[in-house]
Amino acid sequence: MNRRKFLKTASMAPAAGAVAVAMAAPAPAANPALSTKIVRLNLRHTWTTTMSSSQYRDTLHTTFSRGGIIGHGEGAPIVRYHEDAASAQKAVESVRDLLLTADPMQFAKIMAEIFKRVPGEWAGKAAIDIALMDWVGQKLGIPLYTYFGLDPKDTPLTTFSIGIDTPEITKQKTLEAADYPVLKVKVGLATDEATIEAIRSVTKKPLRVDANEGWKDKEEAVRKINWLEKMGVEFIEQPLPAEMLEETRWVRSRVHIPLIADEACQHAADIPKLKESFDGVNVKLDKSGGMLEAYRMLQIAKALGMKTMLGCMISTSVSVTAAAHLSPLVDFSDLDGNLLISNDPFHGVRVEKGKLILPKGAGLGLSAAK
Ligand code: MG
Repeated sequence: MNRRKFLKTASMAPAAGAVAVAMAAPAPAANPALSTKIVRLNLRHTWTTTMSSSQYRDTLHTTFSRGGIIGHGEGAPIVRYHEDAASAQKAVESVRDLLLTADPMQFAKIMAEIFKRVPGEWAGKAAIDIALMDWVGQKLGIPLYTYFGLDPKDTPLTTFSIGIDTPEITKQKTLEAADYPVLKVKVGLATDEATIEAIRSVTKKPLRVDANEGWKDKEEAVRKINWLEKMGVEFIEQPLPAEMLEETRWVRSRVHIPLIADEACQHAADIPKLKESFDGVNVKLDKSGGMLEAYRMLQIAKALGMKTMLGCMISTSVSVTAAAHLSPLVDFSDLDGNLLISNDPFHGVRVEKGKLILPKGAGLGLSAAK
């Protein structure tokens, strides 16, 4: 089944608790304007990880307008960092005056000030950063990959994620992902072996595995990883809880595939201390607080000789496209959050045979979904 057919089939599936999303574009304002809105995203499949299980996610959407240009932003609040869409919205509203009076071309100065003023609320910060960067790119008339000096042909393949489910549904999800050359699998439960075996019963594709801190001791992690190595797994994300850096270092010396930090790596300042325990880092705009901090993180990780990866939360094409503009910088990408929902209000980055295809328009290059 090709991707279009898959998406068409998927969109015909009943979406439990579906809420229509009306993303009426605000009229472009000559004077500075800011809007914030919580949008409910419906999942194509119930999404289960070691942390939660749900049929929808709420993300915060922002627009920043000035001089007839509208920049779109989005942040997906992460429960693990005690954030929700309402707290993200409150954080953005708390700096409304700053945003409406500052010069948006001084976006780095604005974001530094917001990082100082607002504790936590990284999704809220990402929603501001992305809207500003989209505005700036449009103002300059260039796509954001050009702003960052990157070649859109260098985008990596993205994985397509298979959530934790019964072996039968896992097999079905694997078959639906026929167009994706690399799959990402969530593990970290007692059913790990059954999940991997279900996938291996229908495909030989390379797998990347995310344990989401699900293994609780180092011996279990080594046992599981040694088994996964034999099952064609390329790397493991966050095998142990984030704070277990010593134990992760112990694990790293006993396995043969790279370990990538996700939950242990939120900001640029986290990276140097991860160097001994991990081979690479997974950077996400919703964790870092936007594109500027994500760019710093990727440069620091590269300078330390670590592998780099861009990931995302379940979100629309706004946030995923913003991450994708930085993706020519990374070794691995897992930017499929917009493909897992059935009511994306925008078109932005596309995926062809797994490769990220960046839009050519200025800024993020978004267009409204028909
Ligand atoms: Mg992860």
